[in-house]
Amino acid sequence: MLEMRWLGKVAYRDAYTLQHRLFEGSSEHLLLMEHNHVFTLGVRAELSHILVDPASVGAEMIRVDRGGDVTYHGPGQLVGYPILDVPIKSNATPDFVAKIEELLIVALACYGIAAVRHDGYPGVWTNSKDGKLRKIAAIGVRLSRGRSMHGFALNVCPDLAMFSNIVPCGIANFEVTSMEREGSSATVEDLVATIAELAPTIFGRSQSSFYGVSSASGYLARSDSATSPSRISKHAPETALAELRSLDRRLASAGVSTTEGISISSSKPEWVKLRSNMGEGYQDLKRTMRSLSLVTVCEEAGCPNIFECWSQGTATFMINGEDCTRSCGFCLVKTDKPQPIDQGEPARVARAVREMGLEFAVITAVARDDLSDGGASGFVESIRAIRDQTPGVRIEVLISDCKGSETALGSIYDMRPEILNHNIETVLRLQRAVRPQASYARSLRVLAGAKDAGLVAKSGIIVGMGETYAELEATLRDLAAVGVDIVTIGQYLRPTRRHLPVSKWYAPREFAQLKLYGESLGIHHVESSPNTRSSYHAKRASEGLVMLS
Ligand code: SF4
Repeated sequence: MLEMRWLGKVAYRDAYTLQHRLFEGSSEHLLLMEHNHVFTLGVRAELSHILVDPASVGAEMIRVDRGGDVTYHGPGQLVGYPILDVPIKSNATPDFVAKIEELLIVALACYGIAAVRHDGYPGVWTNSKDGKLRKIAAIGVRLSRGRSMHGFALNVCPDLAMFSNIVPCGIANFEVTSMEREGSSATVEDLVATIAELAPTIFGRSQSSFYGVSSASGYLARSDSATSPSRISKHAPETALAELRSLDRRLASAGVSTTEGISISSSKPEWVKLRSNMGEGYQDLKRTMRSLSLVTVCEEAGCPNIFECWSQGTATFMINGEDCTRSCGFCLVKTDKPQPIDQGEPARVARAVREMGLEFAVITAVARDDLSDGGASGFVESIRAIRDQTPGVRIEVLISDCKGSETALGSIYDMRPEILNHNIETVLRLQRAVRPQASYARSLRVLAGAKDAGLVAKSGIIVGMGETYAELEATLRDLAAVGVDIVTIGQYLRPTRRHLPVSKWYAPREFAQLKLYGESLGIHHVESSPNTRSSYHAKRASEGLVMLS
């Protein structure tokens, strides 16, 4: 199955880590995306081909392990990374490059642009109206052990001036062009659809799937249905109204109707309802948390399993404060300007773990985009303190993406938590609507980084927010492709009217099917039930799994 994904705007380093992880696997992918301004230097690149200080033009500069010289990536350019099985034979690389050239030449023909090859110069060229040959797409690949990575960069409507800051591909005597310069008004998303249509045939793949982020343009088509009065009470403060309108817009652009959702006042199915049991275990744990001024996500996020877990003496500590810098559409945690980090918190968490006699401790945190490390040091200090006070305790951390910072994520990986958990939360199409400050590609990159570090990786999906069953299966395949070991799948419960509507109650048999499907892909354990949450039965799920030393 050729898994094609339109990932939208992706930071180059996120894409690089994700590509390497998929390259090491056995499944086949075509990743389509746009990058922020970046100059990449291939293995034969000459630094002298960078003519300016990249930072002075708002670009990054990154050395990469692909063939070729220096090239530019940026908004308005469609970048594609085919990660495929390529038979090992002589001329494998030029033959593979020729396949990619064919894909782009056929795609450009669909927009009336006659593109050609230019002997001795990999890439795709146009015979412009003035008869000059100009380069419209660059190609740089790496083939190794019968697998491919890196790929092509097709200039749809980028800022061509950025190419004057380098000697593109080391070629000084030819200009660079774009579809826009050649007179086409095609958008990057138009080319995504065209490439996704052509690629399976040109690469000779009979089975393929294609999923993509929702597009900003989607919203325009449905603006009328988005702001249905039933969801916005006339007494709501302006901020709430603005927030709801933006949530509706995001949902509409993802093709989710806010009026067709399940009404918040309708009763839940039996299998979602849980009895509250505030027995002794629960009361003891509550006293411990209060006496140590600790916060738990169990309480902050209104977890339905709190009675079961607390009566069994397990809880998930929430560090780095109660206010989150993000506003995921399903989450009850308050979005607000966070307080300064409480330096004493790691020691108190460690004391609670010791006093509760925990063998397995779970730590999570709000997103702290206000901090340069995204809150990573809170995890590092908490892990250190817990291990000091309770040697041998196993630790699971449920982290945010730390804004993709390699240093911040690396600092947590280096603490070697027994389980590195990071939730992808929902399917690709709904990412912008559900978690606007996060992204599918970045979350896969966080999990790929954890696997590269030899850790046990875990992720979670919330269902019932507008996804299709096929999209859930595709998300499980993507998690399996980066090597995720544990996945949790649970039913979305709408906290308030200000949150996403529930689109569907999944039946217990569907959770069972998703578990079977996920485990059939090689995921070690899928914890899937209506009331499953990220750290539900975390200890049990981790059994039988050890990190690579
Ligand atoms: S980042 Fe986490 S805590 Fe913050 S809103 Fe999203 S899910 Fe909730």
